Amino acid sequence: MCCDLKRRFLLLYATQKGQAKAIAEEIWQEAGAHGLEADMHCMSEMDKYNLETEKDPVVIVISTTGTGDPPDTARKFVKKIQDTTLPSDHFAHLQYGLLGLGDSEYTFFCNGGKTVDRRLQELGAQHFYDTGLADDCVGLELVVDPWIDGLWLALKEAFLLQKEKEGMSSDVDAVSSSLSATPHVVHELNLSSEVQNLKLEDGGVRNSDILTQKLVDINLVTSAGDTEPSLVHSVPPVSQSALNIPALPPEYIEVQFQDTHGENPHLSSLISGGTTFEVPVTKAVQLTSEDAIKTTLLLELDIADTVFDYQPGDAFCVICPNNVDEVEELLQILGLSEKGEYFVCVKVKQGTKKKGATRPQHIPERSTLKFILTWCLELRAVPKKAFLRALVECTSDAGEKRRLQELCSRQGASDYTRFIRESNVCLLDLLHAFPSCKPSLNLLIEHLPKLQARSYSVSSSNLYQPGKLCFVFNIVEFPACPTRAVSRKGVCTGWLAELVASLLYPNKNTLDTKGGSPSTEKISIFARPNNTFHLPADPSVPFMMVGPGTGISPFIGFLQHRQKLREEHTDWEFGETWLFFGCRQQHRDYLFKQLKCFLENGTLTHLKVCFSRDSSTAEVAPPKYVQDAIRLYAKEVTRVLLKERGYFYVCGDKKHMADGVSDAVVDIISMEMAVDKLEAMKILAMLREAKRYLQDVWS
Ligand code: FAD
Repeated sequence: MCCDLKRRFLLLYATQKGQAKAIAEEIWQEAGAHGLEADMHCMSEMDKYNLETEKDPVVIVISTTGTGDPPDTARKFVKKIQDTTLPSDHFAHLQYGLLGLGDSEYTFFCNGGKTVDRRLQELGAQHFYDTGLADDCVGLELVVDPWIDGLWLALKEAFLLQKEKEGMSSDVDAVSSSLSATPHVVHELNLSSEVQNLKLEDGGVRNSDILTQKLVDINLVTSAGDTEPSLVHSVPPVSQSALNIPALPPEYIEVQFQDTHGENPHLSSLISGGTTFEVPVTKAVQLTSEDAIKTTLLLELDIADTVFDYQPGDAFCVICPNNVDEVEELLQILGLSEKGEYFVCVKVKQGTKKKGATRPQHIPERSTLKFILTWCLELRAVPKKAFLRALVECTSDAGEKRRLQELCSRQGASDYTRFIRESNVCLLDLLHAFPSCKPSLNLLIEHLPKLQARSYSVSSSNLYQPGKLCFVFNIVEFPACPTRAVSRKGVCTGWLAELVASLLYPNKNTLDTKGGSPSTEKISIFARPNNTFHLPADPSVPFMMVGPGTGISPFIGFLQHRQKLREEHTDWEFGETWLFFGCRQQHRDYLFKQLKCFLENGTLTHLKVCFSRDSSTAEVAPPKYVQDAIRLYAKEVTRVLLKERGYFYVCGDKKHMADGVSDAVVDIISMEMAVDKLEAMKILAMLREAKRYLQDVWS
């Protein structure tokens, strides 16, 4: 189709980890096949688009980060549209469709998208297409795929409307005819039962993402007797279907190997803005007994020689590397074992078809291969469908090729969810399962996301322990399973555990090979901004803390701080303090037995501890979980929270605990205030809004 017949729309994305960007790129690619042209920009590139004068439809893809914040790349934009002096018809000329990405395990699901959507509406902008809210918890594709499918018709209608307004007609017909041609392609996908070798057609953007293909010899994928699908095996109907697979993402990275001379970039160059601090780990304590189900460690960092500062309740980030053995294994599979120490120059490929291709910000222009694989790429990331699609091209075995196609196809969507997403399969798992797949380094750089620094809540007070910062974490363990031959530890917690082994077990023959005193390992940390999870500014205000397991961590900081304030300001009035703590077994994982000291010296007014796995001989069974304990103190909860305008803090596991606690609080409010559940939920929402019901939760 001739370019001047193409209708343009503005496509904005705001991404935190790359998902919104990848989806926007998919829309951009598909647009061409529909006779449309997407003018795509990151929302932060505010000099490249102007909503104030935008006449064409606008499509927005935006993710959510933290506890309901828009991604960093949307901050400036959100700030701009939230200007309260803007009139209510500021965007009256604007037609838009918005796709929000989020995770319903978090309280403020898709809040980044909802915030922008709400504000655009307030400023008079109109939807040309219903807002889609995709949930990473159940699979983004469940909403994203049909939303993109419906987008083209909605855009067509938006253009027709625009045409009516402009009194123009000619070029819209072109769009209509291109759109009406698309279903044609779909109808042509009649299934063929013919079994023959598959030849993939390539080539950037094709006419829609639909690739008609004949079946490969399905015996290669499903051996006789295999009636159950698995990562590597498919069964009918998937194994016998013609597949709709995504268009092959254009390659856009070029790598050049150089010599071994030079220096790798400093780790601080890997984070955008802010400063990193390399600090020694001065203490490591195992808080759980050897026979506890989980191993919990407390680490103490010496920050005395830095300007790093924190308040109790803050979180901070640890820059962590990928596992050394996994890096070595990957180098071997890539056939680059000898090149680990070689410097690699990473550039955008000349003539790439990828729109606006730039070198990913987390990849240095020049660093060693090992540096890239160790510090820059999240090797454990669950591969996206576009990555699987690209891997098809690097796979020589026909059966493996077909299975990879299935896993990224529409027809194989539930197999993808089951065997890849829910099984948390990573690149190495895939390369083991599909041994003829030999990806190139540039493909890894193009498709693997940034290795994210991990956040931890501070578990100390700078008043109580000047120059020190403590934090507490569970060593995350993933046992071996059908899709993962070996057991693994969490990237960061596994690394930290190994790093501090000589501090934990100084007598054992651990990493400290020098003998003598344990080595002082250093780690790189940086501040995590925007935390509202702090003690009430007025010490006379009462507050309740709920922190089972490692969720206790920030509250130790709160209590240390409060203890010091009480010692230093004997004339101040201090409000009452409650702590609901829970663990499995009193003798195995009661993390901070010194909580009793806080109780004895009056820092803590009420301590309620429950043990979920300890048996009890009491007539009335004690509460198992913190949410059960809270229900026993319904009157006190309403008094502190509503009558005395106190604070309520919840920290720890978001999946199982945080929702249970907020349900308990809703029930308590409903019962004690004699209001229905809906009203109680509104009261809780109001408390959240007022930042008096605060959560710091993680998975
Ligand atoms: P990762 O390797 O990142 O794996 C962790 C998660 O990835 C799993 O929970 C799972 O969802 C998924 N996953 C990856 N691979 C697999 C697999 N093979 N099988 C199953 N699931 C898999 N944690 C604490 O312990 N203490 C704290 O004080 C703390 N504070 C936090 C504060 C904030 C604000 C946030 C956002 C998080 C906090 N966390 C805390 C969580 C912490 O940041 C890390 O997520 C956690 O320590 C795990 O990191 P990891 O690199 O060891 O695990």
